[in-house]
Amino acid sequence: MDLTLTEIGNALNAKIQGGNPEVTGVAFDSRQVQAGDLFVALVAENDGHAYLQAALDKGAAAVMVDDQHAIPADMPAVIVPNTLQGMQDLGKYWLDKVAPITVAITGSNGKTTTKDMVAAIASQAFKTYKTPENFNNEIGVPLTLLAMPADTEVLVVEMGMDRPGQLTALSELVQPDMAVITMIGEAHIEFFKTREKIAQAKLEITKGLREDGVLIIPDDEPLLTEAQVNQRVLGFGEGVKDIKAEGSQTDFVYDGVSFAIPLLGRYNVMNALAAITVGRLLRVKTSQMVAALAHFDLTKNRTEQLMTPSGVHLISDVYNANPTATKAVLATMADFPAGQRYALLGDMLELGEQGPALHASLATAIADAQLSGLYLVGPLMTDYLAPLIAEELPDLPLHTYQADQLTAIAKDLQADLKAGDWLLLKASHGLHLEEVVKALMSN
Ligand code: ATP
Ligand code: MG
Repeated sequence: MDLTLTEIGNALNAKIQGGNPEVTGVAFDSRQVQAGDLFVALVAENDGHAYLQAALDKGAAAVMVDDQHAIPADMPAVIVPNTLQGMQDLGKYWLDKVAPITVAITGSNGKTTTKDMVAAIASQAFKTYKTPENFNNEIGVPLTLLAMPADTEVLVVEMGMDRPGQLTALSELVQPDMAVITMIGEAHIEFFKTREKIAQAKLEITKGLREDGVLIIPDDEPLLTEAQVNQRVLGFGEGVKDIKAEGSQTDFVYDGVSFAIPLLGRYNVMNALAAITVGRLLRVKTSQMVAALAHFDLTKNRTEQLMTPSGVHLISDVYNANPTATKAVLATMADFPAGQRYALLGDMLELGEQGPALHASLATAIADAQLSGLYLVGPLMTDYLAPLIAEELPDLPLHTYQADQLTAIAKDLQADLKAGDWLLLKASHGLHLEEVVKALMSN
């Protein structure tokens, strides 16, 4: 961003004071302020108004404060009724000024991965900016807008949601030209109760989608394909062929073109197909899309591929888990050598009263994965999934643990697994399986 304080005041129809410095960025955490930033004093558990001087000491050019807080008369500032709203309005002003083609991405899973793939494809032909990290909420989206360079031609924005109304607000802020819904899963089902309600909430992304914009959805999700949408709709997924894993990459053929992505899992192929659909609308050449997808920068993902000192491959996804994502990663296990596939699964939290049934629902995916050993930890896994597995897959070596037995789990895995084996670790973060990863990686 590159604005003077006067222009910011005019854009927001707000009072300014303390001169007319040039502002080149935005921060809301005083510790992360860089020289030239506008420090926005957000009112959360920690009131940003307590850190104005700290921000200025770190080089902030000016501050955005609300009119309920008194500040020294010479402090360079823009004064608004509400600082979060002020930051959103300023983001909108900068977006309108830069006027890139905008692509919004939502969905229960795969948003960040798809965002990275779309940005990789778009950057073959356009100056492209994408959501940093995972900044996908009502603070992260305006921050993304404000961090966008002035010469951006394509902007790729991740949009998250955990409540109805949230995506309406984000999409009305951004007014995207294209909107992608990656998939409908069961994340946040405790709150929404049904997948229909989740789909409805995701479809709010069309509220701000331009009239001549395009909605991009998976072909195999009737909750989306059968929905009434005012804009043009394109599906992705049908017609993909020859999906196969090669080491740590996945090959596939789409409309006669061979692609490879440096990621495992059929679900990542789906994410790539969504990105290819956007690429076609942007008229990026097919050869450029192939090149972009072959090597792209992936935002540090929660799924890590590691190798232990004793040569065991870990697929570690220990920061969140829900049934759809867990089934999706279990499906990737089939790509690994038979006889060398293991999984450690911990409870998936925040599923409410559907928790028991959703844990039990993993049994089919586990059967399909043809594991050589299964380790389950936590009360939901051991009470609801373990008995089913014992009954339906009596030959599968099954180990169950209480949530406080992480040391024992690591010890057993070390004894049972040998070089070349593959171990999937997946659970909600509340189970702290990162402790098991740490133990396995240390000897
Ligand atoms: P968050 O809501 O935390 O921002 P996200 O939607 O951005 O998540 P990613 O970070 O891209 O999702 O992927 C997180 C995990 O979700 C992956 O590691 C994988 O387990 C699973 N996942 C990714 N894409 C899909 C998909 N298309 N279908 C099902 N599961 C997926
Ligand atoms: Mg994300």
